[in-house]
Formats: sequence, C-alpha cells, structure tokens
Amino acid sequence: MKKIGAVVLAVLVVLAVGSPAFAGATYEKVKKSGVVRVGMMYNSIPAAYFNDKNEWVGFDVDVAEEVVRRIGASMGRELKAERVKVNNKTRISFLTSDQIDMSVANMTHKRERDRTIDFSITYFFDGQKILAKKGQFKSLKDFKGKKLASQQGTTSEKNAMELLKRLGDKNYMKNVISFQDEPSCFLALQQGKVAGWTTDSTILLGYAAKEPGKYELVGDFFSSEPYGIGVPQDDSDWRDAINFALQDMWADGTYKKIYDKWYGPKTPYSFPLTEEIEMWP
Ligand code: GLU
Repeated sequence: MKKIGAVVLAVLVVLAVGSPAFAGATYEKVKKSGVVRVGMMYNSIPAAYFNDKNEWVGFDVDVAEEVVRRIGASMGRELKAERVKVNNKTRISFLTSDQIDMSVANMTHKRERDRTIDFSITYFFDGQKILAKKGQFKSLKDFKGKKLASQQGTTSEKNAMELLKRLGDKNYMKNVISFQDEPSCFLALQQGKVAGWTTDSTILLGYAAKEPGKYELVGDFFSSEPYGIGVPQDDSDWRDAINFALQDMWADGTYKKIYDKWYGPKTPYSFPLTEEIEMWP
C-alpha cells in the first residue's frame, strides 16, 4: 500500500509541476495561430483611448502594435494584434484566466502584482501627481483634509491615502474617494466634488488637455510608477520575445518616435523622457 501511495504521489507531483510548462506555451501558440490577444485600456488619454473619430489610439496602442509586429518578424510570419478592452480590474484577471496574451495597460509593475502575473522590463516611466482647478493650490500639503478622487484598484488610490496620512490628515482613508474609471474622476473634479484628482501624471495631462488652461498639476511627484507589459506567469519564452522587441525598438529609435508622437513637446501632453529602458547586450 505504501508503494502505491508513493506512486500516486509521484504522479500528482509530475502533473502539478508539469502544468506550468503547458501554461508557458504562449510563444508556440501565437506562432501557430498568428494572433496575439492584447489587453488595452480604452479610457486612458493618451495611453489608450477612443479619439473623436472613434479610433482606438494612444502610446500603449502603438507600443503594443510594434511589439507584436516585431515578434512576428522574429517568427518569420505576420501576426495580428487582436485588441481586447481591459480596465484597472480586468487587466490582470484576463491574463490569469487566459483571455489575453499580454496587457499593455499603463500598469505599474508592483511586487504585489508579480505574485499572479509576470512583467516585461519597464517600458514607460511615470509618477503620481495631483490635478486641480487652476490657481487654487500651491503644493501637496494644501490637500491635507481635502477630498481627492482616484481610480479603484490602482496604485494611485493607495499612494493618495499614504500621502494624506503623511501630511497628518486623520481622515486620510475617507478623503480618498474611489471611482470606477478615469472619466468619473475627471467629472468629480469638474463638478467640484473633490479638490483634486490624483493618478499617474500623464493620465492627468491627458484629461486636462480637454479644457486647456483650466486645470494644473500641483506639486511634485510623490510616487514612482514604472510601467511593465503584463504577461502570463512563468512563461519566459514569451516574456523574452516581448523584452527583446522593446529593446530593439529602443535601439533603432522606434521607441523615441512613438514617444514623441504622444508625449513630445509639440503634443498637448508634453512629458520629457528622462530615463532609459534596460538594455541587454
Ligand atoms: N499605473 C497605475 C496602476 O497601475 C495607475 C493608473 C491606472 O491604473 O490606470 O495602478
């Protein structure tokens, strides 16, 4: 009996250890099907949003298309990027439930998130700020005791509470009001329901540009938000393919071109590039 028990145990161990290898087959699956399911936001200006012509555009959209194109080239075939709408809540769960193959969704690489998914190298460097009506606030400390809007389930929400706490605001939990998405946060600010909206600075720049001259970013950055492309857990071939594509885009200037198109000095969202992406020789 003991022997049988050991054999059963050994089979179970092999099955358990074997399953990640099966889950890690995205590269081969994509090579066969010619399709990459890409999760992208649709309310993040200018990362991924619908423009006046109802086209799904943005920095993340261009990065995703270019990464997919390059992976296709490395496979010797053309790949189609199948765009899938994701939001702050689904950009991780769609990866773990195999509904998408990558999540290019202005997503900060957090250790906590790394427990369920993996990330590419950092492809965008942002930080958190506060957007308010022009001329009302001078620095971060002016928001002590004031209400701040933020998107549910984001790093922004947590950082905002930490900031208010640091400033000595006893009601720091209550004073951060969580909304479903970016448009609801902006609306709350427009209607004066909150003193500020706080999230990654580029998203704030994106929405502020809807009404030029009316809003301003107040104070310094109070967090670091390195964005990574989310990928399925334990799938290093796929992650390597994405990392190599990002590094090649950086090396030949394509990254800079896309960056300038969306964040260059001539855009309404001007955000100077001050960091470099990690390069492996
Ligand atoms: N980048 C931050 C995050 O991943 C906030 C912005 C957002 O989620 O849309 O939580």
